[in-house]
Amino acid sequence: MPYAYDPQNIFARILRGEIPNKTLLETEHTLAFHDIAPQAPVHVLVIPKGAYVTYDHFARDASDAEIADFHRAVAKVCELTGVQPGEGGEGFRAITNAGDHGAQEVPHFHLHILGGRPLGRMLA
Ligand code: IMP
Repeated sequence: MPYAYDPQNIFARILRGEIPNKTLLETEHTLAFHDIAPQAPVHVLVIPKGAYVTYDHFARDASDAEIADFHRAVAKVCELTGVQPGEGGEGFRAITNAGDHGAQEVPHFHLHILGGRPLGRMLA
């Protein structure tokens, strides 16, 4: 099944500068910004600049440079927000929702980084 990317989705519009956002980090291939409706004291969304619908789409079709840049940006977000458990932070959760069963709302791949409070045990 092809991944049909909607260029009018809200994150595409953020990437084009049509909608404001609270940017935490921008790199060559990646943007990280604060979620508009934070579910925790730290709630950052990390998105590739490329047009990928879901995580599996990104992992399949993105270049090695994009994939490396994305994951390095995730680590930098953890550093900037102070949540990384190995460096004195208290930990975080990384979530990506994909498709209907994943209850994905915005059809541009994004990783939620949540932290700043105990998040409880959750797998589904
Ligand atoms: P999803 O359910 O994983 O697709 O999550 C989409 C996330 O995008 C939600 O947590 C929303 O609060 C967030 N969101 C929607 N619009 C904006 C925006 O304009 N700026 C920042 N976050 C947004």
